[in-house]
Amino acid sequence: MLLKDKVAVITGGAGLNGLGFASARMLAAQGARVAILDLAGANPAGAAAELGPQHIGVVADVTDKASCEAAAQEVLRRLGRIDILLNNAGITQPRKTLDITAADYDAVLDVSLRGTLYMSQAVVPAMQAQKSGSIVCISSVSAQRGGGILGGPHYSAAKAGVLGLARAMAREYGADNIRVNSLTPGLIATDINKGKIPEDRRAGILEQIPLGRIGDPDDVAGCVVFLASDLSKYLTGVTLDVNGGMLIH
Ligand code: NAD
Repeated sequence: MLLKDKVAVITGGAGLNGLGFASARMLAAQGARVAILDLAGANPAGAAAELGPQHIGVVADVTDKASCEAAAQEVLRRLGRIDILLNNAGITQPRKTLDITAADYDAVLDVSLRGTLYMSQAVVPAMQAQKSGSIVCISSVSAQRGGGILGGPHYSAAKAGVLGLARAMAREYGADNIRVNSLTPGLIATDINKGKIPEDRRAGILEQIPLGRIGDPDDVAGCVVFLASDLSKYLTGVTLDVNGGMLIH
């Protein structure tokens, strides 16, 4: 077991078909106790119950600083510590540059970028006190290649912002033995893109992926376990591409 006695917090982890829940399941299989944070409507307690009684669900909106602080405090009270944070919550919108409204911009940047900052701020003090921690931030190939498959330019910007934030936090908190790393998934089959890839684009998309298939959530979850665990204990500030070779650079 790679994560015995560790506590992991996962934002946006309640969707049973999502990257967060797949990661929760794999972290739990390695011995971690998991706190699934998500919006009330997503039922984080229900998702945690699917994992087993030692795991908890906490309602939290990552765009709200007080909500992030309260969630971190609840995890500390109920599970005793926080060793791992997976900044996973994110939303996307298909938009062209000229169509992005102020509300669109706020919605997309607030969940991915502001949320990553607020949730990291909420857990860092506990990690500093114990002189250890691993923060994993979910960015996207869209940040690296200027647009993915579905998200608009504001989504690319939000996810590129996540990379900058993660690298800067890695530099700042290395002395506290807190590692901060990012994952840049390519196209992974989850609810975020379900039914949204037109059939006539599918073959063209697959042609761009050397491994010849769309990813599944466990492809990302395995990398989350690697970055969360001591297997990667000399890694901080890295960006790990999980894209089947869609972008090689
Ligand atoms: P998903 O829609 O299943 O997961 C997103 C989760 O975030 C949902 O559970 C949702 O309720 C939650 N969420 C939304 N707003 C929130 C808020 N304000 N506070 C807390 N939780 C909130 O989709 P997914 O594909 O599993 O996405 C997970 C992450 O991976 C996202 O950041 C997404 O941008 C990123 N990503 C996905 C892909 C892909 O192809 N699926 C590729 C690259 C990056």
